[in-house]
Amino acid sequence: MTLHVPFDNSYATLPDRFFTRQRPEPVGTPRLIRFNTALAEELGIAPGTPDEMARVFSGNEIPQGATPLAQAYAGHQFGGFSPQLGDGRAILLGEVVDRDGRRRDIQLKGAGRTPYSRMGDGRAWLGPVLREYVLSEAMHALGIPTTRALAAVATGDPVHREQGALPGAVLTRVAASHIRVGTFEYFAARRDLDALRALYAHTRDRHYPGAGDPGEMLEAVIDRQAALVADWMAIGFIHGVMNTDNTTLSGETIDYGPAAYMDAWHPVTVYSSIDRHGRYAYDNQAQVIAWNLAQLASALVPLMPDQDDAIAQFTRMVHAMPTRVEGERRQRFRAKLGLATHQGGDTALIDDLLKLMQDHGADFTNTFRGLADGTARGQFTDPAAFDAWEARWKTRLQAEADPYGLMRRTNPAYIPRNHRVEQMIQAATRGDYAPFERLLDVLAHPFDDQPDADDLRRPPEPHEEVKQTFCG
Ligand code: AMP
Ligand code: MG
Ligand code: MG
Repeated sequence: MTLHVPFDNSYATLPDRFFTRQRPEPVGTPRLIRFNTALAEELGIAPGTPDEMARVFSGNEIPQGATPLAQAYAGHQFGGFSPQLGDGRAILLGEVVDRDGRRRDIQLKGAGRTPYSRMGDGRAWLGPVLREYVLSEAMHALGIPTTRALAAVATGDPVHREQGALPGAVLTRVAASHIRVGTFEYFAARRDLDALRALYAHTRDRHYPGAGDPGEMLEAVIDRQAALVADWMAIGFIHGVMNTDNTTLSGETIDYGPAAYMDAWHPVTVYSSIDRHGRYAYDNQAQVIAWNLAQLASALVPLMPDQDDAIAQFTRMVHAMPTRVEGERRQRFRAKLGLATHQGGDTALIDDLLKLMQDHGADFTNTFRGLADGTARGQFTDPAAFDAWEARWKTRLQAEADPYGLMRRTNPAYIPRNHRVEQMIQAATRGDYAPFERLLDVLAHPFDDQPDADDLRRPPEPHEEVKQTFCG
């Protein structure tokens, strides 16, 4: 076999109760759909023949050096605590240290049943696999921390969902780690202090080597998660299922189940079919991330020498978080307007534009991109409504050195629009992977004008609009 993965596994050396050793369940006729050669190079993985890669990245063959396991974790889902979740359909093959010295997990998602599968079948169908592939690679190209996609393989086996029998697939996901807030909650709920200590030490060494104690690590996680949520908001992204098991310690975006992008700007947008009360609406994300980190804070308290003191300190940190996110969000929206400096009145300029966009059905991505190339006005149902705001903004721009360059670097021309993702999935289900390949190619350069990809900038026609997204 020419395929070679230079495994260097650390999670597998943690105590037994962190995971269950579990091999992937074999699939019928694996076929490689896509392999991410550039990412493989970064990871020091030598690619093999398409057949070898199909066997390895479906789980049919375990590559040398792998220690396959399913991780245990808990989590708050929509506010309710589940003490026992865990990888119900994912297998961690192991880790590699990449060419920049960073440790990265290699995980098969959709690799069959595990002790944590509960009622699930352990599988994924093609739609969510290609969706996560496209959305995570697009997120990376947008410069936002995220898990990555290394490979997609069709299994040849059907997967049964509400819609009927669908083609099965496996995604190979690469992550800085799969340690979640829910991993800490798992051991905290069991009052397993030894395990909590071991998990803290592992997480600190891996992600926060500068942290002197769990409080300092919490502070650093708050920094990264506040920046991440502000990053999402700046591109109109709605994660959709911000449960604590989908909140990473590394600060990477994870789990693209029902994730979606806004087309027309509206701050309470919700797409996820299971989010009936809008808990994870666009505008709620700053509150929710603080709530999630409060769960991490609670789990870390038992590790602190003075617990009353820790509770007081952690409470302050968590309560300050929504304001932190809001500050970061404003900074990003200033940059989207071309403002590198800070002046009184900037916040009003941002808020007034968003209000106008809301009143006039303006497309989020195209309006901001259009600021730099003069096409923003056309995004409003009544373009004249934009003129007074534009005059104020142009006056403000006189204080800036290179506002147009800044705008072009911060306002993408291309995002994975929901309707294009759905159309791509429908085509792939029929065996046509051209739209999948094309989305990946265009979204790899979201800030460059690509003259033959104008159709991917267009908001949905009414009949194309995606009203709801599903976890798959
Ligand atoms: P998620 O909503 O994707 O974050 O998943 C929540 C939990 O459900 C995790 O423990 C998953 O491993 C599990 N899960 C989701 N889908 C399946 C499935 N098809 N089979 C088994 N477990 C699943
Ligand atoms: Mg999840
Ligand atoms: Mg999921």
